[in-house]
Amino acid sequence: MLHEPSCCCALISFLTLLRRQLVMASEKEAALAVTPSDSPTIFDKIISREIPHHVVYEDDKVLAFRDIRPQGPIHILVIPKVKDGLTGLSKAEERHIDILGRLLYVAKLVAKQEGLDDGFRIVINDGPQGCQAVYHIHVHVIGGRQMNWPPG
Ligand code: AMP
Repeated sequence: MLHEPSCCCALISFLTLLRRQLVMASEKEAALAVTPSDSPTIFDKIISREIPHHVVYEDDKVLAFRDIRPQGPIHILVIPKVKDGLTGLSKAEERHIDILGRLLYVAKLVAKQEGLDDGFRIVINDGPQGCQAVYHIHVHVIGGRQMNWPPG
């Protein structure tokens, strides 16, 4: 009887881990199915308000909204409103320095706004091997749970 709560905790931890592994596998498959290109993406529809989304921050250059498949209690994407060829970080040129700095600064602002005072994870996936699925540069801000290192 005394062992039941810890058994339950172990089972819940195992199921949570299993679910995370399955989600990671499907995210990887989705990313590998995409051909890198400079074509319009789902994020253009988000910027133009054609599809619903939950904005957490907006200024004239940057939009931040909640990820539709959150990898933690808090998962926000920070994107430039104008892509300007910046499909991913590997396409960055000198003219992008200001917007790249702004994306990271806004990432910090939204982390603070979301109460992630104990830390958070910033991710910029790049290319097929980096598991990038949407070719419009974006910064993931993930938090609200303990992260692991190294990442998978
Ligand atoms: P990445 O794999 O770095 O390209 O990440 C793309 C992210 O966009 C994933 O985390 C998706 O869950 C997220 N995503 C795709 N479509 C939407 C959408 N309509 N609204 C919010 N997030 C989205």
